[in-house]
Amino acid sequence: MAERPPLTILLASPRGFCAGVDRAIQIVEQAIEKFGAPVYVRHEIVHNRFVVESLEAKGAVFVDELDQVPPDVPVVFSAHGVPKSVPEQAQARQLFYLDATCPLVSKVHREAERHFAAGRQIVLIGHRGHPEVVGTMGQLPEGAVVLVEDAAHVATLAVRDPLNLAYATQTTLSVDDTAGIVAALQKRFPAIQGPKKEDICYATTNRQASVKAIAERAQALLVIGAPNSSNSMRLVEVARKSGCANAHLVQRAADIDWRWLDGVARLGITAGASAPEVLVEEVIAACRQRFELRIEEVRVTEESVTFKLPRALVA
Ligand code: SF4
Repeated sequence: MAERPPLTILLASPRGFCAGVDRAIQIVEQAIEKFGAPVYVRHEIVHNRFVVESLEAKGAVFVDELDQVPPDVPVVFSAHGVPKSVPEQAQARQLFYLDATCPLVSKVHREAERHFAAGRQIVLIGHRGHPEVVGTMGQLPEGAVVLVEDAAHVATLAVRDPLNLAYATQTTLSVDDTAGIVAALQKRFPAIQGPKKEDICYATTNRQASVKAIAERAQALLVIGAPNSSNSMRLVEVARKSGCANAHLVQRAADIDWRWLDGVARLGITAGASAPEVLVEEVIAACRQRFELRIEEVRVTEESVTFKLPRALVA
């Protein structure tokens, strides 16, 4: 066998599952254990095919809307959060539901409600159509929340009263890009109020910090995650902006185009908050078949966040 070329893997840490994703998966698994299969789940519980397929194998059934859920089976709402109309519809149909909305998304929902109760219109910074944005906008009546996707949009944003505004953000945005949008909002609407504590969650912030820490040293970088995962897509962008233009999103090892690694001595690897560690291991194993590996884990911080499961599962 030909000698394998050397390759140093710079493994970002923290990476992969966050506390909200971990909790959402546990809710589905424990619901199946406690109530028996099938357990219905409205939307992908988290944005990862591998996770969804593993849960399907255990007895979860994924549907797009509540009217696809038969009576008398439990239904779980995904980690991204849902508009208020969804639990209302579940109650009207007397469905038993478990809400796997991440508590950090629920925090943004409560914040938006608080501003609304105080008479403020809310400017939500986020990506149109993402389920979290649909869920947050759906906490309040039509028109109470206006969406802003980028700094350029701020100049043309139409608001009801510039003196009665607050902003909130999607939890999985780019920390740097969001700071630019917030600065543009504050410049145009100096009275705008913001969250007491950042809406971009700890997991998004830490994963972006750890990818920055390896991007400058890496000649290629792989982000393991799904194309519909906001935080994974942001990791690719952050890597490219932080010095590694050769950064790519892969769902798993089979997606790697090995030409990306031609002449590469240092490869960065990270994973989005909804990508399981088993896929990181799979990518490393695929690299090991082609290269003589040295693995250097680059840790920027420790994480110890955990969230409680709903009472209906622990009682
Ligand atoms: S990425 Fe953040 S907000 Fe989203 S589920 Fe994880 S911890 Fe919660």
